Amino acid sequence: RLQIIPRDEHTISRSNISENALKVLYRLNKAGHQAFLVGGGVRDNLMDLHPKDFDVATDATPEQVNKLFRNSRLIGRRFKLVHVVFGRDVIEVATFRAPPAGEHSSKVAATGDQGMILRDNVYGNKDQDAMRRDFTINALYYDIADFSVHAYAGGWQDMQQRQIRLIGDPQTRYREDPVRMLRAIRFAVKLDFEIEAGTAAPIPTMAPLLLQIPAARMFEEVLKLFLHGRALDTFRMLRQYNLFEPLFPATEQCLRDDPQALTMVENTMRNTDARIRRGKSVTPYFFFGSLLWPVVQRVQREFEAQGVAPHPALHQAADRVIAQQAKCTSIPKRFSIPMREIWEMQLRLPKTRSRRVHELAQHPRFRAAYDFVLLREQSGENLDGLGDWWTHYQEQNPLPENSSQHQRD
Ligand code: ATP
Ligand code: MG
Repeated sequence: RLQIIPRDEHTISRSNISENALKVLYRLNKAGHQAFLVGGGVRDNLMDLHPKDFDVATDATPEQVNKLFRNSRLIGRRFKLVHVVFGRDVIEVATFRAPPAGEHSSKVAATGDQGMILRDNVYGNKDQDAMRRDFTINALYYDIADFSVHAYAGGWQDMQQRQIRLIGDPQTRYREDPVRMLRAIRFAVKLDFEIEAGTAAPIPTMAPLLLQIPAARMFEEVLKLFLHGRALDTFRMLRQYNLFEPLFPATEQCLRDDPQALTMVENTMRNTDARIRRGKSVTPYFFFGSLLWPVVQRVQREFEAQGVAPHPALHQAADRVIAQQAKCTSIPKRFSIPMREIWEMQLRLPKTRSRRVHELAQHPRFRAAYDFVLLREQSGENLDGLGDWWTHYQEQNPLPENSSQHQRD
């Protein structure tokens, strides 16, 4: 199952590895330990992409690693890791671990009722470490001792054939950690790989398992899925695999019976991708605000039909929609507060005859709320030329540079 690719038969070069990661690898190696670059740092490097971060795997224990690097700290109580810190750059060093309860057996010793992994803290050797990783293309190890790549379970071939393939039995692996379903989509889109048939097949029926994942982890996954430049493709693929519903159940409901909601969500994805292409930042509150807007509007109309006035109806709708969404993906306060502000500004921006228009334009959320108006109009809502009105207003009353808020966070 182990295949060794010598240095002259692969394209990884040290110049594509961060200096800090190299320092860590060399120091471990000089101290007599095995030291490998692993995961995205190898995979992305082979695809000529810039890895996000560099992970190191070693046979040294976390305590040994900690002693070798003054600039390191031990992380985690049960799953111990070492972070070697170089200013803002952090190299994560993990000791080889064994898979839970033997090699992907369906035994439940270290897994919960549903087969989910509860602890993952047994040290092992490199072969075992490879087997607990998710996809074969993520089980590639770059050996700092001789610059070879060690591939497991056909990972080298999968890399050539551009395949996302789980190691072991797919259903068992998804049950152990349902987030792997999202990771399969994320890597397929990012690398432009196919999901191998056996790895793809169980996803549509197992997708609801994601509802068991803690909401905070799901929030992080949503950011990784959508805020890296390929949101539209990711969205479409997620829906194809029934994976969008456990992320945004209420939005999915709207998408099914309201074509305008689909337009709004797809435009959100397109705009997000376009901003990233242009090097602009994207904010989670704008993204979540757009995805939940069709739901908010629907709930607001329900309240209004019961005789509640528009402002309190929107307010109550926002409360309810946020509370429901937070069961699937948490929305940290620093995002839910500005998100509500954008929604509430949607009721204030139409008051263009008010003496307070200038005040509105000074609001820290004005720029985002204005962009939101444009997005709504672009998606087919008729707002009686509201976007144009505010565009014109801003041309007549230019604001200082630093008051455009949509870029922040
Ligand atoms: P990226 O950093 O671009 O998201 P990555 O592959 O480096 O991609 P990380 O989340 O940084 O992903 O994880 C590093 C490595 O740890 C992975 O390549 C994989 O080998 C392993 N890993 C991460 N998450 C899981 C998981 N849920 N199940 C099994 N192995 C995982
Ligand atoms: Mg990584």
